[in-house]
Amino acid sequence: ALPVIYAITPTYNRPVQKAEFTRLANTFRQVPRFHWIVVEDSSVRTELVARFLARSGMPYTHLNIFTPRRFKRTGMPRATEQRNMALSWLRSHRSRNDAGVVFFADDDNTYSLELFEEMRSTRGVSVWPVGLVSGRRYERPIVEKGKVVGWYTGWRPDRPFAIDMAGFAVNLQVVLGSPRALFKRRGSQPGMQESDFLKQITKVGDLEPKANNCTRVLVWHTRTEKVNLGNEPKHRQDSMVIEV
Ligand code: UDP
Ligand code: MN
Repeated sequence: ALPVIYAITPTYNRPVQKAEFTRLANTFRQVPRFHWIVVEDSSVRTELVARFLARSGMPYTHLNIFTPRRFKRTGMPRATEQRNMALSWLRSHRSRNDAGVVFFADDDNTYSLELFEEMRSTRGVSVWPVGLVSGRRYERPIVEKGKVVGWYTGWRPDRPFAIDMAGFAVNLQVVLGSPRALFKRRGSQPGMQESDFLKQITKVGDLEPKANNCTRVLVWHTRTEKVNLGNEPKHRQDSMVIEV
């Protein structure tokens, strides 16, 4: 059987959340052998996400952990606790006999179906280009003779792994085999989350280039504009409560 793709999506409540999830689910639903791990940045599992997942028609796990207030400042890494909680879930619910690939799928990015075909064969850690990130049209691992030898990026090319969260996948057995590998807050500079995590589980020379030796963009770091709710009524509310 094909290895299962475990997509880890941290998410938080905001006006566009259900719209983002609708776009994601419309993509993920088409991927065979897919398991969605959704971790809400919230002190509860919300009704909106619970209902959405139940109706999505795909295998999922719904978790929640609230980011402490002191970590919610601009310039601080986002969703650290949520991604770590998903890793702990995998470590306690999956074992040596389970074939899988783990991928970090933020809720606002855009994913092609081909991306999942590419990552499915990840043996250790695989990498590929990401579009619309680092102030450039794309960033990508530079590949020579089938090996990653550097990074084409607009931001801090000195990072040991100059790659976005959406630019890599990890074999489930690597996650289970490095039980202490986590996303760090302490000692992690902004934007170094990916690099600090990857340092714990692999070496640059061992990375597996996907997407035709990292020459094709199959995922985009899109960001959704903040919605203008300036005309929401304060007094004369609608007569019904409608979920958006
Ligand atoms: N996120 C979260 N809590 C927050 C902010 C973000 O769980 O307080 C999630 C968000 O839903 C997304 C991921 O963390 O899945 C990355 O956040 P965002 O897309 O805002 O980051 P950026 O695009 O700036 O890297
Ligand atoms: Mn984003």
